[in-house]
Amino acid sequence: MSLTDAFGRPLRDLRISVTDRCNFRCTYCMPKEIFGPDHQFLQRDELLSYEEITRLARIFVGLGVEKIRLTGGEPLVRRDLHELIGRLSVLDGLRDITLTTNGSLLKNQAKALKEAGLKRITVSLDSLDDAVFQSMNDVGVPVATILGGIDAAAAAGLFPVKVNAVVKRGVNDHTIVDLARHFKGTGHIVRYIEFMDVGATNGWRLDHVVPAAEIIGKVNAEMPVEPVHANYRGEVAKRWRYLDGTGEIGVIASITQPFCGDCSRIRLSPEGELYTCLFGTRGFDLRALIRSGASDDELAEAIGRVWRPRTDRYSEIRSEDTVGLRKVEMSHIGG
Ligand code: SAM
Repeated sequence: MSLTDAFGRPLRDLRISVTDRCNFRCTYCMPKEIFGPDHQFLQRDELLSYEEITRLARIFVGLGVEKIRLTGGEPLVRRDLHELIGRLSVLDGLRDITLTTNGSLLKNQAKALKEAGLKRITVSLDSLDDAVFQSMNDVGVPVATILGGIDAAAAAGLFPVKVNAVVKRGVNDHTIVDLARHFKGTGHIVRYIEFMDVGATNGWRLDHVVPAAEIIGKVNAEMPVEPVHANYRGEVAKRWRYLDGTGEIGVIASITQPFCGDCSRIRLSPEGELYTCLFGTRGFDLRALIRSGASDDELAEAIGRVWRPRTDRYSEIRSEDTVGLRKVEMSHIGG
């Protein structure tokens, strides 16, 4: 079965945010002024349970979803995440299951995640410079902890690791090339992300964005690269490989090169709200349906009713007016 939206885009990817909590306070994502001690996070009974997530995931796979990415908040702060992965990884028809993490808790969990069936992993690491990284995560976690997590993941068989770095002008753009240099030849793939106007709390401005072309230009000046074709339709990162054959890097250029035309992603929030766009302002409440006793068919029908009329293409129509919308927070929906 395949569901297509109003522009003919199929539903293929499901991103599940398993918690709105995170042990980092990245200044561009969960600034302390807003996500401080008084911030009201979701209560345990508000979160979808692993049973509920698994049931929904099975229905999504029946509707054509082939790939699931777990995210957060920080997914590894949710207890026994490997149990959820164990349930999801055996779903009939699911081809890929992956996870995005800040890597701080990965060292102790990598083996259990892999053994539960996790296929791949993405670790966020914005800079190799300790002062820069700690000023960005704002909780004092050093680079070495994250590198240890990446090593543990690779040793567990989650190889290669994708290493995501958000680039913000004046904050970490002077460390772009170091990151590429460090991972060149290791097999791991650095992917630079243009700073995006997600959510409503990160004070985004266009002049904070370092365009993908500039990022690639900096790397290319020291380590020449050439473009590579996408692995598959709808791939988010544009790929570049080193001319000397020692690996590749990517850029996720949602601002300067929007990729809405191929977007096959749907997102489930920790409390069961369904979003058809990362820049959405409102979700559809699947938890209410599940908890009111809806059957699988009724849930599938509801998902179809959300996906079929979908016309989202936020990044293509971004303007001064859209930037101020009250969009769902990145730390809630997970990217
Ligand atoms: N805690 C996990 C992590 O750090 O990867 C998963 C959730 S986090 C919200 C997912 C990704 O979104 C991270 O790579 C983070 O750097 C990125 N991110 C957060 N805010 C962003 C923004 N405004 N623009 C671009 N990427 C952003």
